[in-house]
Amino acid sequence: MNRIPVPEPKSVGLILSYRCTAHCAHCIYFCSPDWDADLMSQDELRETLSILSDHIVPSPRGRRSIGLNHGLHLTGGEPFLHYDRLLDATRLAREYEIPSLFVETNSFWAVDPETTRQKLIELSEAGLDGIMVSVNPFYAEYVPFENTKRAVKFGREVYGDDAIVYQESYLQEFERAGLEGTLDLSDYVKGREGKLLRGAEFFLSGRAPYEVPDYGVSGLETRPAEYWFDKSCPTSLLREWHDHVDNYGNYVPGYCGGLSFGKIEDLPRLMDEGLPAEEYPVLSLLIEDDMAGLYDLARGYGYRARDGYYSKCHLCTDLRTHLHEHGDFRELKPDQFYEQVKAE
Ligand code: SF4
Ligand code: SF4
Repeated sequence: MNRIPVPEPKSVGLILSYRCTAHCAHCIYFCSPDWDADLMSQDELRETLSILSDHIVPSPRGRRSIGLNHGLHLTGGEPFLHYDRLLDATRLAREYEIPSLFVETNSFWAVDPETTRQKLIELSEAGLDGIMVSVNPFYAEYVPFENTKRAVKFGREVYGDDAIVYQESYLQEFERAGLEGTLDLSDYVKGREGKLLRGAEFFLSGRAPYEVPDYGVSGLETRPAEYWFDKSCPTSLLREWHDHVDNYGNYVPGYCGGLSFGKIEDLPRLMDEGLPAEEYPVLSLLIEDDMAGLYDLARGYGYRARDGYYSKCHLCTDLRTHLHEHGDFRELKPDQFYEQVKAE
């Protein structure tokens, strides 16, 4: 491969900041309160949305309806931590007629009915088409369930069918169980004999391999690096849907935190020309699905294998963190991502 093709961002999550109120054990971007907010300026936000507006495709349900893998979602980190910037982004996205615009939230901010209703109505009036409320045991460890229920209730009141709960089965489970306040995740796992996230989409990527095993989850075992060499990536790096753009302007493939195709401001050129493979060895090896190659590259920089890895993404993150520390790879961005991995 001489040039790496850069996919068109047809559906995108705009990470307003990696800073979050929570420190979920499964967070793919290692978000937490430890990150600096580092918000985009108004001009950067405008330029980013203007560029994305040429590419984002609407939900099959319509331009003002939402779908998980369509349109533009405003995300983080926790986007309501920066409510004014969330409002700005909503207004600008509407000005650029970006379709299927929604916000993804952990609901920490839904502290009472008035606040919740007022913010959701204000966002709707600014042009937001919907909301996605995150619900599973990892969020419930940090967010009082009352807040989650409030965000769902008023979300549905304001946005109707365009209020999505991800995942509804956990909302129902916690309601049936009469959950109050936050969830003790270790007790929850113990009460289910080590089983967790039955039926849920869950990859041992991001922070998960570093933290989830500590909760006593059953069925997780480490394997030596070589075991993962020929396993395929759980998500494709070249897909055109559900990619991300972060507050530093990085165009992030899929859910692969810490990787960047380059700056979103250069998107037309990146898409026209692709990336010269020899200047992006990490991306190039990963796209060829050659984890053995990435492993050898890291070994050349002094990497020493761990006893085992919980997943291919675990190995990948570990190799990339080493390469980021010991080399100079333009695709390993943002730097703060790797600082957070090392802090785990
Ligand atoms: S609420 Fe979302 S962004 Fe925040 S730590 Fe949890 S998974 Fe990550
Ligand atoms: S192994 Fe690496 S490139 Fe593949 S999906 Fe996981 S994080 Fe992404």
